[in-house]
Amino acid sequence: KPTADPEDPTAPEKKAIPKGVVLGKDGKPCRSCTSFSSWAAMTRKDTTPAATTDPPAPPTSPPSPPPDCPPDVDALGRSTWTFLHALSAAYPPAATAAQQAEMRQFLALFARLYPCWPCAEDFRAWMGRGGNAPRVEGREGLGRWMCEAHNEVNRKLGKREFECARWEERWRTGGGM
Ligand code: FAD
Repeated sequence: KPTADPEDPTAPEKKAIPKGVVLGKDGKPCRSCTSFSSWAAMTRKDTTPAATTDPPAPPTSPPSPPPDCPPDVDALGRSTWTFLHALSAAYPPAATAAQQAEMRQFLALFARLYPCWPCAEDFRAWMGRGGNAPRVEGREGLGRWMCEAHNEVNRKLGKREFECARWEERWRTGGGM
């Protein structure tokens, strides 16, 4: 069992873990696995105002992280997809055997080291299923494969799928050029 850090306001022993907060392998809340709103709900001090006769405040929009906040699962994901699609866009149209080996190695390591561990686990499982091995022969194949990988996560999260025929326009050439 992990030992509690008495200074850590997020220590699971200090407060019940609210829905949406994902624990890391060390048993503590994992910031890069959790959305900012769930993290904020966990760390928020009890600010319930005293009873008042004032009219209720208008509903507020969901909290957004300050710019210097460590990344939550969404900020990390957005930045990472930008990197991964840009990487595909910069890949040679026909990769050499050495470049193909490097890309295969990179993707295998990426899928082990991605800081959101449940994301990494699902990504590895998807890559391991028949037909989903990285297509590293050249830019077009890699770009499409990355788009399909991203769509797998989109589906899991209930988001709209991206039209993969447009991956290059989105990530390499731009629409109006
Ligand atoms: P993102 O999904 O981050 O997309 C950024 C931009 O990419 C979009 O605005 C769109 O223009 C473009 N785009 C969208 N789909 C595609 C596509 N298929 N091909 C090309 N371009 C596209 N979050 C979780 O909550 N749970 C998870 O298990 C999880 N697993 C992840 C696994 C990996 C490997 C990565 C990199 C991220 C994962 N994420 C996960 C984060 C998640 O995918 C999103 O990044 C996050 O929810 C923020 O989403 P977003 O709507 O801002 O846009």
